[in-house]
Amino acid sequence: MPEQKEENITVDFFESVYHGEPPWDIGRPQKEYIQLEQAGEIVGSVLDVGCGTGENALYLAEQGHEVWGIDFAPTAIQKAQEKAAQRHLTATFLVLNVLELHTLGRTFDTVIDSGLFHTLSNEDRPRFVDNLAAVVRRGGTYFMLCVSELTPIPDFSKLKERMPDFSKLKPEDYRRPQVTQAEIRNSFHDGWRINYIRQATLESYWCALSRMEPSETPGWLSSISKE
Ligand code: SAH
Repeated sequence: MPEQKEENITVDFFESVYHGEPPWDIGRPQKEYIQLEQAGEIVGSVLDVGCGTGENALYLAEQGHEVWGIDFAPTAIQKAQEKAAQRHLTATFLVLNVLELHTLGRTFDTVIDSGLFHTLSNEDRPRFVDNLAAVVRRGGTYFMLCVSELTPIPDFSKLKERMPDFSKLKPEDYRRPQVTQAEIRNSFHDGWRINYIRQATLESYWCALSRMEPSETPGWLSSISKE
C-alpha cells in the first residue's frame, strides 16, 4: 500500500471559506489575547501569523503596538485592510505564506498565532518553526493558541445546516488538527524556551448553535521565547 502523505489544508480552501464567514472568525479578538495584553505579556512590535481578517492584530494595534499581520488567503488580507481603514487603525497586512516568513527581512518583539499552527501538516510544522526563528528577535516571544486533544470534533452535517456559507467544506478538507503538549515541546526544543503551555479557551462558531454567540472550546495557549 502506498504511504499516505498528509496533505496541507490548502490556500484554496481558506480562500473559499473567506468568501463567506469562517467559523473561527468571531468578529472580535480572542479572549485569551485580550488577557495576555492586559497582563502585559505582549510587548513591543507584533507579527500576527495567519492573521485571517485581523481581529487580534487590530486589537493590539488599538492598544498602541506596531502590528503586522500576514496570511496566505488574499480575501482575508483584503478584509483586514478594510477593517483597519474603517477603524482608523494603522497595521500592515500582507499576503504571505508562513513558510516564507524569512522574506520579511525583519524581526518582531512578539509573534502571535491564533489557530494557525494546528492547520499545518506535520511536514510543514518544522519548516514553519525555522521561519519563525527568522522573525522573532532574540528573547522575543511567540504565543500560540491552538486546539488540543480535548477540543471536540464539530458535527459537519449540523455545521453546514447552520452555516450555508460553509457548505463548500468537504470532509476531506478537514483533518482533525489535534495538538498535544508533547508535540508542542518537540516542535520547539532547539533554540527555544517554553515558558508555559496552559489550558486555554478558543472561541469559535464550530460548535455554536448559531452565529449569535460563539462557543468556547478547550485548547492550549503556549508562550515560547527564542533563546
Ligand atoms: N488568526 C485568525 C485565523 C485563524 S484560521 C483568527 O484567529 O481568526 C487559520 C489561518 O491561517 C487562516 O486565515 C489561513 O488562511 C491561515 N493559514 C493557514 N496556512 C497558512 C500558511 N501556510 N501561510 C499563511 N497563512 C496560512
